[in-house]
Amino acid sequence: MQEPAALTPTQERTLALIRRDTEPLVFPQEFVDELLERATTEIAQLSARLEGESLWVSKGFLAKVHGCEVRHLAPDDFQWKPASAAGFVAHKAIELSLNWRGEPHPAAVVDDAMARLVDQADNRGAYVAGLSEGEWAELRSRAIDRTTKFLQDFPPLPLSAQPVLEAAARWKPTGTIEFTGKVDLVVGKPAGRESRLLIIDFKSGNKSFHHRDDLRFYALVQTLRQQVPPRKLVTYYLDYAESDVEDVTEGTLHAALTRALEGIARHVELTVEGRTPLKKVGVACRWCPLQSECTEGQVFLRGESDDHIDP
Ligand code: SF4
Repeated sequence: MQEPAALTPTQERTLALIRRDTEPLVFPQEFVDELLERATTEIAQLSARLEGESLWVSKGFLAKVHGCEVRHLAPDDFQWKPASAAGFVAHKAIELSLNWRGEPHPAAVVDDAMARLVDQADNRGAYVAGLSEGEWAELRSRAIDRTTKFLQDFPPLPLSAQPVLEAAARWKPTGTIEFTGKVDLVVGKPAGRESRLLIIDFKSGNKSFHHRDDLRFYALVQTLRQQVPPRKLVTYYLDYAESDVEDVTEGTLHAALTRALEGIARHVELTVEGRTPLKKVGVACRWCPLQSECTEGQVFLRGESDDHIDP
């Protein structure tokens, strides 16, 4: 990737927020040991309550189980659409741009990324390969928008910082529960027990406090698998060119573990122990597949739309 001659003000602003402090950050070994011990012990107890069921705990799982429990128990109806697929196409394009010969033009790297994804033997490849002309054009347009905003507004990523796009992390203690995390970008080279990793998620659209929960969970998985916590969590809002930055602390990691354990316990109560699920209305009702048969959700959504009618 060719370095720009000078950073733009938005690049400067972001760089100032995510730059490493001069003092190295090292978490006490006793804290990491205690976190690992607590996670291992409590996960073993929850595993036993699952009665043999395997459970993959991800940020999506936790968001669902802490939201409306009725929806959590509904069958998974996820299907790729141009709006959701634009993220992985743009990430592929950004990955290519890091090693592109000459200046990477967003449209050119997105076209190359989509052509490569067609050959990918997974559900993403199958989705891109099966697009109609119109869907292809919409996906291309959305991915170019994301890629352009990243290349123009985010600070350049030197390869020496070892950037990894769509970085996956897993942690599996004894039992049937596994933690799985994936974030858009991880930057930083490990150095002993010093916390150096910067964890970044890119978001289109509105800001939400839920985004911090997603990154905290990834930080927890990284800490459990590497026994070195990351140093900072960044949600970067592409449309605003703004970052929400949170330092990783002992409190952040304990809070993430508590939320994960509580989410698993709820799932066990609902799926194994027969507790009646509770409805929880909220903005997620807008996209809920059960909305047509849910009075509470319909009432909530009517109230929401009335709030937007001018008197
Ligand atoms: S419409 Fe809302 S309250 Fe009803 S089931 Fe769906 S998410 Fe839950």
